[in-house]
Amino acid sequence: MTTGSERADVAIVGGGPAGAAAAEQAAAYGAETVLFEQGVPREDREGLGPDSTDAAGMLDYWVDILDIPFSEIPDEVVLRELEGCDFVGPTSEVELNSTGIDASYPGFGFTFDRTRMDDWLHERATDAGADLRIGTGVSALESERTSSGYSHRLTLASGEELVADRVVLADGPQRRITIDALDQFLPDDRSASDALSPPRANHIAYQEYREFPPELFSEFDDRLKFWWGHIPGETAYPWIFPNDGTVARVGLTMPIGMDLTDVPNRDSYKLLRPGDARIPTGGEYVRRLLEAEYGDEYDVESEIPRVEDRGKSKGTETYPISSTRPIDSPVGAGIAVAGGAMGTTSAFHEGGYHVAVRTGSIAGRLAASGTLDRYNDVWKRAIGAEILRNVSFADMVADYEPDDWDRVFEVVNGMTDAGSAGVLLDRKYAAGIGASKILAGYKRRKFRYRNGRYVQLAEDEYAV
Ligand SMILES: Cc1cc2nc3c(=O)[nH]c(=O)nc-3n(C[C@H](O)[C@H](O)[C@H](O)COP(=O)(O)OP(=O)(O)OC[C@H]3O[C@@H](n4cnc5c(N)ncnc54)[C@H](O)[C@@H]3O)c2cc1C
Repeated sequence: MTTGSERADVAIVGGGPAGAAAAEQAAAYGAETVLFEQGVPREDREGLGPDSTDAAGMLDYWVDILDIPFSEIPDEVVLRELEGCDFVGPTSEVELNSTGIDASYPGFGFTFDRTRMDDWLHERATDAGADLRIGTGVSALESERTSSGYSHRLTLASGEELVADRVVLADGPQRRITIDALDQFLPDDRSASDALSPPRANHIAYQEYREFPPELFSEFDDRLKFWWGHIPGETAYPWIFPNDGTVARVGLTMPIGMDLTDVPNRDSYKLLRPGDARIPTGGEYVRRLLEAEYGDEYDVESEIPRVEDRGKSKGTETYPISSTRPIDSPVGAGIAVAGGAMGTTSAFHEGGYHVAVRTGSIAGRLAASGTLDRYNDVWKRAIGAEILRNVSFADMVADYEPDDWDRVFEVVNGMTDAGSAGVLLDRKYAAGIGASKILAGYKRRKFRYRNGRYVQLAEDEYAV
C-alpha cells in the first residue's frame, strides 16, 4: 500500500443519508472518520452538498426504522404532517388513513425538506467529529490484504489518495464505486452488476415543484396521492406530495429504457396517447397528469406553474432510485455497503430514506467498534421486516395492468376496515374470495423470501 498517503480508520464514500449517518456513528464511536461527497449543485442550497433528490415522504413506522426520535428533527425540516394517502386506479380509488403498522409517531406520516434534512445529518456528523469533504469525489477504490486484515486505498478525483482500514460505501443507486469494489471479492464469472447494474436494478424518478392555487392545494394538503395503472412499467406510477405553502412535488417513477412496443394493452393507460412513438419523458407525463386531473378547471402552465428556485434545475430534478433487492456486504474485507447502493429502497412505495439512515448508522457504528463482521446480521434484524414486506409487495404487483389495480382497489373498498393499509395483509379483514386470493399471493411471496432469502448476493459468495 502506498506509503505517505493520508489515512483514516473509516472512510465513507457518498454523503447522502446513508453516508452521513455512517459518518456520525463512526465518529461518535471514536473512529477517525472521513466522508467524501462529490458535491451536487442545487437551486435550493448555497454551495455544494449531497444530491438530495427525493419526494421526501416519511410514514409513521419509518420514523422508528430511522431510529432518530421525531422530537429531535428540527421544525424547519418538516413540511407537512399527513393524515393519509390516496391510491387512484384507472376507474377506482382507495383512501388509506393508517399504515396499519405499530409506530411511535402519532400521525400517518409527514413530508420533509430533503435538502435541509440532509444538511442536518451533515451537521450531526460534523458535531460528532467526522471530517466531511464536500466537493471531493472518489474515483476508485482498491483493497489489499495485509497481515492484520485488509487496507483500502481510495483515489480521489483530485488524484490524491487516502488509505482506510474500513470503508462504508454509500454512493447511492449509481454505485460508481460499489460495483468494482465488490467485484474484487467475487469470482471472475460473477459481478456485483448482475444484481446491482444501474439500468436494470434502478428506476428513474423525475419530479417538478409546482405551485397550486390554494383551493386546489387544500384538497390534498395533508395527503399523498399515487396514481396506479396510469403509466406502463413494473411499479411505475406518478404521485403528488404536498410541501410548504401551496407547493407540491409532482413526479413519477418508471423503469429505465422502456420500449413502448413491448407494452401490452397500451390503450388502457390513461397517460399514454395513441400517437406516442416512445415512452413519454417525465416532464411530459407530469404535464399529462396535471391536465387529466385539473385541466378542466385550470390552465396548467399558468395556474399551476413550476417553482424555478427549487430542485436541481429550474424546479425539476431527475435521479435514479434503486428498485431491486438488497445485497450482503463483504464484511470480512472491512467493507459495508449501505442505503441505496446496497438496494434497500422499496420498488413498491419508493421509501428509502429511513433504511438508508438505519443501514448507514449500523455500518458506521460497527466499523468504528471493530465489529463490522456483524453488519449483515444486524441490518437484517433492524430492517428485515420492512424489506420482506416491500419485496413481497413489489413482486405481487410486478405484472399488474390497469384492470388489476381497479380489481384490487375494489376488493380493498369491500373490506370491513378499508382505510388501513393493513387490510390487505391481515386475515381478519380479508373476507371474500378476492381478498383471500390477494392475501394468499402476498403470503406465498413472503414465505419465499423468509429468513433473509431476499438477499441477492450473500456474504458467503465473497472470497475474502
Ligand atoms: C424522486 C425520488 C423520490 C423519492 N421519494 C422518497 C420518499 O418519498 N421517501 C423516502 O424515504 N425515499 C424516497 N426516495 C428514495 C431516497 O431518496 C433514497 O432511498 C435515498 O436517497 C438513499 O440514500 P443514500 O444515502 O443511500 O443515497 P443517495 O441519497 O443517492 O446519496 C448518495 C450520495 O453519494 C454521492 N456520491 C456518489 N458517488 C460518489 C463518489 N464516487 N464520490 C463521492 N460521492 C459520491 C452522491 O452525490 C450522493 O449525494 C426517493 C428518491 C427519488 C429519486
